[in-house]
Amino acid sequence: MGIPLSVPTFSGKESEYVQDCIATGWVSTAGSYVTRFEDAICEYTGAKHAIAVNSGTSALHMALLVSGVEAGDEVIVPAMTFISTANAVKYAGAEPIFADCTDDFSLDIPQVLTFLKHQDIKLDGIWNKTSKQRIRAIMPVHLYGNAVELTELISFCHQHDVVVIEDAAESLGTFYSKGDELVSTGIQGDLGCFSFNGNKIITSGGGGMIVTSNDAYAERLRHLTTQAKIDAVYYVHDEVGYNNRMTNLSAALGLAQLEQIESFISQKAQHFARYQERLSSCPWVQLASYPENLRSNYWFFTLKLNDAGSSEARDSLINKLFENNIQVRPAWRPLHLQTPYLEIQCLELAKTMELWESMICLPCSPGLKDTEIDKIAEVIGS
Ligand SMILES: *Cc1c(COP(=O)(O)O)cnc(C)c1O
Repeated sequence: MGIPLSVPTFSGKESEYVQDCIATGWVSTAGSYVTRFEDAICEYTGAKHAIAVNSGTSALHMALLVSGVEAGDEVIVPAMTFISTANAVKYAGAEPIFADCTDDFSLDIPQVLTFLKHQDIKLDGIWNKTSKQRIRAIMPVHLYGNAVELTELISFCHQHDVVVIEDAAESLGTFYSKGDELVSTGIQGDLGCFSFNGNKIITSGGGGMIVTSNDAYAERLRHLTTQAKIDAVYYVHDEVGYNNRMTNLSAALGLAQLEQIESFISQKAQHFARYQERLSSCPWVQLASYPENLRSNYWFFTLKLNDAGSSEARDSLINKLFENNIQVRPAWRPLHLQTPYLEIQCLELAKTMELWESMICLPCSPGLKDTEIDKIAEVIGS
């Protein structure tokens, strides 16, 4: 048996809640667990509204639609992210523009602000000088347990009618520490999206959640994700809606997982500390630490090869780990290298390429054993 990259732990009330759905017959897109899960996410993150959907990808898609992104608009997205961030922009009929990231894998905010300030800033928004299209939204992505501080970006965007949609798919449980306060990722922007796919910090099998403090967005999200139905007896629909709501079965699983999130995070924090200790004697690699202004969820552990220079050293380390049945992978393949996005406008992407060529993600499941970490470190050091 090998060591998987990231698999869930089911040690709470998962079976009890799912059995309850089956016993009561409430398995589909209505039922008390959907509401309970939404309420629990509001409580955990401090969000005003939470709308459960069937994936993180549809959360991003729906968030773009309700925020007014239309065909022909442009949306700034980091090149270093999972492809669904850009795909959601395409589903909305808009075009992504790819921006760079920082050492912490987060959207390079100074780069984005400089770019925006050099476009045509008009009363009705910011227009791209090259394409003549309107830049309608920005999607910062909080990657690998890190988070990007958004205060400055949000204040600039709000002066110019640009929407900020946080792709917080990986970052449930990551909080900014502000004085004595902890502020959740996902709730600073106009809308935030979480994912509960099987490899995320908690899972509902498949699912997502959109959070917002905007009452009108919340109402429209509930409407759009339930086929835009305005009459439940005569089935009257007032626009083209979507069947994107979460099922009660998924929500039951997700709620039981959310009840354990803090224990998953503390297990992962211990794994991280052990990796740090075991890898301290390998000078050619560096385990990336998490920014100090954060209480991270420790979602993924990332290792950087010092002076990699090309992807060869990375690939030979990946192969060596694979030969020992240890599942790892490189950083997200940058989106401007992906077939559907080869023609997209890009800002300078130097840091993205550097991270892509020099980084791997290590096994990080909550249930990882100390002996497994020791073995992984031994293989890396060998
Ligand atoms: C997982 C992920 C998504 C998509 O979530 P799904 O639930 O798999 O659709 C989007 N963005 C990022 C950064 C992710 O890691």
